[in-house]
Amino acid sequence: MVIDVHVHTFPDDMAARALEKLVAKADRAIAPVADGTVAGLLDQMRAHAVDYAVVCPIATRPAQFDGILAEALALRDGERGGEAARHLIPFASVHPADEARFAHLQQVAERGIRGIKIHPYYQPCVLDAPDMLEYFRCCRDLGLIVQCHCGFDIGFPFDPVCNPERIARVLHDVPGLRLIAAHLGGWRQWEESLDHLVGKGLYLDTSILAMNATEEAPQRVLREHPADRLLFATDWPWLSFRDGIDFVRSARLGANNERAVLGGNAAHLLGISVPAPW
Ligand SMILES: [Zn+2]
Repeated sequence: MVIDVHVHTFPDDMAARALEKLVAKADRAIAPVADGTVAGLLDQMRAHAVDYAVVCPIATRPAQFDGILAEALALRDGERGGEAARHLIPFASVHPADEARFAHLQQVAERGIRGIKIHPYYQPCVLDAPDMLEYFRCCRDLGLIVQCHCGFDIGFPFDPVCNPERIARVLHDVPGLRLIAAHLGGWRQWEESLDHLVGKGLYLDTSILAMNATEEAPQRVLREHPADRLLFATDWPWLSFRDGIDFVRSARLGANNERAVLGGNAAHLLGISVPAPW
């Protein structure tokens, strides 16, 4: 079973424009591998035998909470088609500056959504600030998984708001939080990830950009972090499933570990027992 714990989709009528904006913001250093729609995602999942994908929305303003939650429920409950309902696992998004953030986190949990996405560049916050620690304690107490962007973001000037050192502090101060640190703990901060995160009890997702696949530091994180705490991810549409799977395989972790990283660990975390039929 293959499970990708980090993909993005955009509404059909906005996807082309949204992707173009993100490419321009990154000075054209990235190119999407697909159109960014739910249908495009499902097509490529089927083609590459990816059974499930966690869809990670990002509320860039507090007021987007309701719309994002409604869309997550629509995906889950079949309003976007049976395939989407069977193969996609939508997360929600609660902006850290939302005055109703604790009530909204509770609403997410009560509606049966399994986690939330945090992106400190798009939702300005400092990951280990006292108010964020409260936010994460609330997530932990509600049983919500937190999927967090970590390290640089190619679309922004560097700001160490979500660097590996801060993530380590969150782990220390909020024991029991089920945290997925994206991009192997810190995109283009893999040396720091090795120093502060590798070997600790958090999950690292394996999403990188194609240009990073043969770099030494991300390879080291992949090989040195416990295999039961690595989760396959692509950040689709920014990396193809083929390249993402090849990157995991390039670490030569052995057949059992590779199976765990590609899907077994995520199945356990998300409570999935069998692949869904196409
Ligand atoms: Zn992402």
